[in-house]
Amino acid sequence: MSLEMFDLVGRRALVTGAGQGIGFTLARGLGRAGASLVLNDLDAARLEAAVHRLRSEGLIVDGRAFDVTRPEQVEPAIEAIEGEIGPIDILVNNAGIQQRMPLEDLPLERWQEVLDTNLTSVFLVGQAVGRHMIARGRGKIINLGSIQSEVARPGIAAYTAAKGGVRNLTRAMCAEWARHGIQVNAIGPGYFVTPLTQPLRDDPTFDAWLRARTPAARWGQVEELVGAAVFLASSASDFVNGQVIYVDGGILAVI
Ligand code: NDP
Repeated sequence: MSLEMFDLVGRRALVTGAGQGIGFTLARGLGRAGASLVLNDLDAARLEAAVHRLRSEGLIVDGRAFDVTRPEQVEPAIEAIEGEIGPIDILVNNAGIQQRMPLEDLPLERWQEVLDTNLTSVFLVGQAVGRHMIARGRGKIINLGSIQSEVARPGIAAYTAAKGGVRNLTRAMCAEWARHGIQVNAIGPGYFVTPLTQPLRDDPTFDAWLRARTPAARWGQVEELVGAAVFLASSASDFVNGQVIYVDGGILAVI
C-alpha cells in the first residue's frame, strides 16, 4: 500500500476556530501532510499569532478573521478566500464553545449562543463552501462532533443538543452532496487537553472520574486527532461518507 493516498499536496484547507486548541493542531497536521492552509478565528490577534507560528514552521498559511455564526460575515469571507487565495478543497468546521450550567437555569441566550456556534456555523460555512465544491464536483468536509454527539452528561444540555445536531447534519450533507463528489464526515473527540476543557482538568473529582471512565485511563492529546483528520481530508477516504469517527480512548465502547 502506498502512502500517496494520504498526500494533501496541492489541496487547500480552511479550518475554523484555528487560533488555538484542536483547530490549530488539525491545521498544522493537514499542513504537514502537504495542504496549504487558511486559518479562521474570531480573535484577530490570536489568529495572526497562529498564522505566524505555522509559517515559521515552513507551512503555507493565510488567515481570515470572521464570526462563523454571522451569515453576513461568512458569505463574503468564503467568496474572498475562493477569489483571492484559491479554491477550498477541504473544510474543517471546528469552531465551538461550551456552556456549563444546569438545564433548569440555562437562559435562552446562552442556549442560542451554543447552538449558533456549534451547529448553525456548520450549516452556514458548510453551505457557503459546499456550493463551490458542488460546482467543482469534489471536496472534503470534516465537522467536529464530540462523544456528546452520542451521549449526554449533566450541565451541558445545549452543547449535547448541538453536537447531536452536528452528527445528523453530517449525514444530511452526505445525503445531498455525496453525488457531487463531496465526502462529509465528522470527528468525535473524547476528552482532550485544550483551553475548552481547562475547567474540567482543574476539577480533581472530574479528572479522577474521567481517568476511571476512559479505557485508555487518560486525557487525549490533540495531536492524536490528526490521523483521523488527514484520513478524512485525503483520497484514502473517497468512499467514506456520513460517518463520525470517534477518537476517545474507548469511552463510547464501554459503560
Ligand atoms: P477551544 O476553545 O480551545 O478553541 C475553539 C476556537 O474556536 C477558539 O479559538 C475560539 O475563538 C474559536 N471560536 C469560537 N467561536 C467562534 C466563532 N463564532 N467564529 C470563529 N471562531 C470561533 O476549543 P477546542 O479546541 O477544545 O474545541 C474545538 C472543537 O472541538 C469544538 O467544536 C469542540 O466542541 C470540539 N471538541 C473538543 C473537545 C475537547 O476535549 N477539547 C472534545 C470534543 C469536541 P475565541 O476563543 O476567540 O472565541
